[in-house]
Amino acid sequence: MSNFAPTEVSPQQLARIAELGPLYAQSSSAPASWQENLDSMEYEGALRSIAQHPDETLSLYIHIPFCPGRCLYCACNTTVTHDTAWIDRYLEAMDQEMALVAEHLQGQHDVLQLHLAGGTPNYLNDAQLTRLTEIIERRFRVIPDTDLSIECDPRRASAGQLDLLHALGYRRITLGVQDLNPQVQRAIGRLQSIDLIRDVYAMARETGFDAIGFDLIYGLPEQTEASFQDTLDAIVDLAPDRISCFGYARTTASGTHQYAIDAHRLPSASERQGLFHRAVNTLTGAGYAWIGLDAFALDTDELAIAQEEGRLRRNCIGYTGIETDHMLGFGSAAIGDVGGFCVQNEVDINTWEARVRGGELPVARGHRVGDRDRRRRDAIEHMICNLELPAEIAAGCLDDEYARLASYASDGLVQVEPDRLRITSSGRYFLRTLCSEHGAYFEWDRSRWHFSRSL
Ligand code: SF4
Repeated sequence: MSNFAPTEVSPQQLARIAELGPLYAQSSSAPASWQENLDSMEYEGALRSIAQHPDETLSLYIHIPFCPGRCLYCACNTTVTHDTAWIDRYLEAMDQEMALVAEHLQGQHDVLQLHLAGGTPNYLNDAQLTRLTEIIERRFRVIPDTDLSIECDPRRASAGQLDLLHALGYRRITLGVQDLNPQVQRAIGRLQSIDLIRDVYAMARETGFDAIGFDLIYGLPEQTEASFQDTLDAIVDLAPDRISCFGYARTTASGTHQYAIDAHRLPSASERQGLFHRAVNTLTGAGYAWIGLDAFALDTDELAIAQEEGRLRRNCIGYTGIETDHMLGFGSAAIGDVGGFCVQNEVDINTWEARVRGGELPVARGHRVGDRDRRRRDAIEHMICNLELPAEIAAGCLDDEYARLASYASDGLVQVEPDRLRITSSGRYFLRTLCSEHGAYFEWDRSRWHFSRSL
């Protein structure tokens, strides 16, 4: 169970935090500090350097940027298409991209984690899902223990598709639920009944997935505490292993379709806080451990166990108990983290494809992680996973940031101890704001999180 019980957040704390800027701002692009038009030779060098260490392990992030329609709240890198041949061409190019990368790695590294995200990965038909998995297995060392996971849109799922995914080795599945209230669903342009969710969930259980997760979103138009409570109660009845509860932030820069959401129908900052508070109270009351920022897991689930044992991590796939040395991203807009080098592929699908077909690694921008960045990354990871910041991580490098964080003690958000800062129960609701004290690196980290919250 979570070490942190839900707590009330006082109006004074809310007012103080409101002064500090937006709580849940998100970005769909890499931070401005990243170098544009990155020389792919630099990235090749990073890949070649890890080839020298065959015992180092990999996570693979696969981006499928296709959907059959656009949800109005969506800020993901995706494209609406009904052209199956285009998706076939995309997979063919992805095979080429993997070949380019694998050539540098010399095929010796175990893959411990593989995640299909998007877009809508289960928009691929059966033949495409099979082909994609075969491509990955041909290019990389997927081992019996590799954790294979996929994000699925329940509206595209079927018993046959779930059986196929399981037969291909996928053991964790996340279903995009968002909100079950019909009025909210109409306002976000995404209709899916509770019966549909129930049916797909039952099929996934029957299929035998090890873990089934639901994604919820709070802060949507027309959402009220009462309507969201109904959604939470219905979800608790189904008892998925994991639940993520993300905050919607209007980012019209990510797509003009978001203008179709009436900004006047969005909950206020304090109403958003109330919605998230409902989620925390309901889910922890139903026996879920609160994981880090915004995830909840049954205490039998690997995430809850990892948090309890102090080995919880967060990467662009989300919270995980699996630690790997490098993250390779494939597909348009995918982000990687390789040998101390953070990179993002071309976001435009056609540009990405043209570069791959020209025999080039399709990286568009990147950033070499320096010592200060690394410390910031460690600091953020400690805060969002372990809910504390050991003084030794900040010492001599992040002293100013540590001092600014310590000042939140007067707001009751952190507790100052001789060798660390601890996030209090109230402070946990403001973790994103607290992490933003680590400035530039947090921007990069936010952009990573953005990729796994779509379906
Ligand atoms: S929210 Fe998910 S399913 Fe909807 S358009 Fe975005 S990526 Fe596609």
